[in-house]
Amino acid sequence: MKAKYFLILGIFLVLIFQPQPTTAGIWIRPISVKQGEIVVVSGLFYPFGNSYSLLENCVLNLENKKYAFAREIVSYENFRNSSGREGFQFITRLPTTPLTKVGTKKIILECPLGKQEFNINVLAGQFPLQNIKLTASKNALSSSEAEKKAVDLALNTFSSYKLWDGSKPWLLPNTARKSSGYGLRRTYNGKLADNYFHKGLDFAGFTGSPVVAPAKGRVVLAGKNFATQGNCLFIDHGQGVISAYLHLSSLEVQENQEVEAGQLIGKVGDTGIATGPHLHFGIYVNAENVNPEPWFQYPMP
Ligand SMILES: [Zn+2]
Repeated sequence: MKAKYFLILGIFLVLIFQPQPTTAGIWIRPISVKQGEIVVVSGLFYPFGNSYSLLENCVLNLENKKYAFAREIVSYENFRNSSGREGFQFITRLPTTPLTKVGTKKIILECPLGKQEFNINVLAGQFPLQNIKLTASKNALSSSEAEKKAVDLALNTFSSYKLWDGSKPWLLPNTARKSSGYGLRRTYNGKLADNYFHKGLDFAGFTGSPVVAPAKGRVVLAGKNFATQGNCLFIDHGQGVISAYLHLSSLEVQENQEVEAGQLIGKVGDTGIATGPHLHFGIYVNAENVNPEPWFQYPMP
């Protein structure tokens, strides 16, 4: 009963207060992204002839991977300068990475009532190349099966509600200079490593310097002494967005603990495979590693 009322209110608010959609019923923004950026698709329903599919019942298909929509509460204020009332919409975020091929991509909206295709454009990101000469002895450390499984589970967490504040950018997790950027590619003895890219940003903080949560979330994995990641944290921010913190010297939070933006969660270290003390920070959207930089620059819907 309550859900029905909410649905009607939601439809009403979306009809009355949203700006003109990109297509009939859904918003795709932006339609052009650089590799590593995300495309946000939102709306309430999509018309097929004289009928409508609620987006909750649809999926988006990008390069044969399917993305479900999450329900999101939206306040009136997002649309007009009024307060105190809320509606909702459905939202999904399509990740791209340095491995996503540049060019026009088809996204297919698959609903019970039909299918519709849209185009998005993926532009080349600027990722530096690092040349590595391989020596005979490779690092003997590698993740155990249990560690891989725990990390995989953490990255695939999907909670339906968004926990971060979509009205402001994320905080930097550490104040040190960035020593290594997102998306860095590698060549080994002159040959490009096909599937490698640097899955985050490195902050050159000294051992023991504070690492804070960049946004509100819940700790889904607090790993101790993992072979490659060392002491590590994975925080679920909701709707398939997970942040990762590797090589910590200490963990200041526990699994399942809720954390606020700016809260101390750990300290910089060089545990696991690290050439020196630094924080490796990564953001995952629907289990794909995306570029954190835009998240620090503007509010992320
Ligand atoms: Zn790193």
